[in-house]
Amino acid sequence: MNSCGCRMEPIGSFQRPNGEYVLVHRCLGCGIERFNRIGADDNFDLVLTLPSLPPCTGHEVKAQQWEEELDTELEEHGAA
Ligand SMILES: [Zn+2]
Repeated sequence: MNSCGCRMEPIGSFQRPNGEYVLVHRCLGCGIERFNRIGADDNFDLVLTLPSLPPCTGHEVKAQQWEEELDTELEEHGAA
């Protein structure tokens, strides 16, 4: 799934200005962070148990290249 094949651990979540919740996973191997938009079919209870992260757009842009393969929609809706 990610480049090095290590397990991704959920570390927190944040809410975008447009109201979307984003779940942040970090790779246990290389530390790469991945952002997954939370959909209706995702486990929102898990999100609520995780620490709330500041919505840091620069942070997100840095990781976006890793996200592209998963969710190209992020580019269209990217936080400005
Ligand atoms: Zn990794």
